[in-house]
Amino acid sequence: MTIPLIELRNVSKQFVKSLDVAEKLARSLGVAVTEEVTYAADRVNLSVMEGEVVGLAGESGCGKSTLGRIIAGILPPSEGDVSFLGKPVSEMNDAEAASYTLNVQMIFQDPFSSLNPRMRVRETIGRAPLVHGIIQHDEVDDYVDEMMQRVGLDPSYKERYPHQFSGGQRQRVGIARALAVKPKFLVCDESIAALDVSVQAQVLNLFMKLRDELGLTYLFISHDLSVVEHLSDRVCIMYLGRIVESVSTDVLFEQPNHPYTKALLNEIPRIDMRNRDYVPIKGEIPSPLTPPSGCHFHPRCQYATARCGQETPQLREIAPNHFSACHLNDE
Ligand code: SF4
Repeated sequence: MTIPLIELRNVSKQFVKSLDVAEKLARSLGVAVTEEVTYAADRVNLSVMEGEVVGLAGESGCGKSTLGRIIAGILPPSEGDVSFLGKPVSEMNDAEAASYTLNVQMIFQDPFSSLNPRMRVRETIGRAPLVHGIIQHDEVDDYVDEMMQRVGLDPSYKERYPHQFSGGQRQRVGIARALAVKPKFLVCDESIAALDVSVQAQVLNLFMKLRDELGLTYLFISHDLSVVEHLSDRVCIMYLGRIVESVSTDVLFEQPNHPYTKALLNEIPRIDMRNRDYVPIKGEIPSPLTPPSGCHFHPRCQYATARCGQETPQLREIAPNHFSACHLNDE
């Protein structure tokens, strides 16, 4: 059996907001004051095979960025395990953990804030591979040139600072910086959302090209299903910290199962509207501080029954490689 490159098992993440001074004082006087807990990820299981591109989609605030940061090792999970090539990160020794950190890189939404404004591009791209012994001092210039060319940047710009580039060029610098440590896996968190529409297409094409050239694996996080459609082999739909549907991209767009997926699809403008007789999504996504009981989607779902408010639907296989978490599949 092939081992997934990345595997999440029952990964949960809660953020606890500490009490301020007044709340601590109130508590010391016997008032019942509790910390606010945000439930960002709830027992998520996810496997990504080498070479695969998995899209992770859902509305803002559904926990997809938190999940991306957990995978990239930026945040620790509150519960559960993240494994890289079968080895749980929590059981790695220092050398294995360092290798994992290099192998899983993250590309952020805002290239401007993710680049050091006082660092020339030469250093931005060349520093990490030098520190980690991937290249030697006398190889930095050639290596930076190679990385810049790979992402479509003119190497003669390597002495420039981030503010001297356009938004699309800065995102390319961010991609070159990630590639410079020879990763296997890229977590792209809304990586084209901040760019002009015309530049978005160019950067999407760059991601596709790099996948072909370098055999990269991606988790492509986006609130925009039409972006995910163009890049992904498989799509996971996330709602309030849980994955509610996971299936190949073709099937997701042709035969979605989960009512939330159908509602999201309804919001994509398309020429072919044959399959677009779904009911639009109503209301706002509830607060992750107080997620609804049972199926988190039930206050917004037109098919909800009493069971939906009481019992959490499990993500289960409803057809080969098609997983959905909805009680309607039991009928
Ligand atoms: Fe709707 Fe119930 Fe299915 Fe949730 S479990 S999506 S509330 S029908």
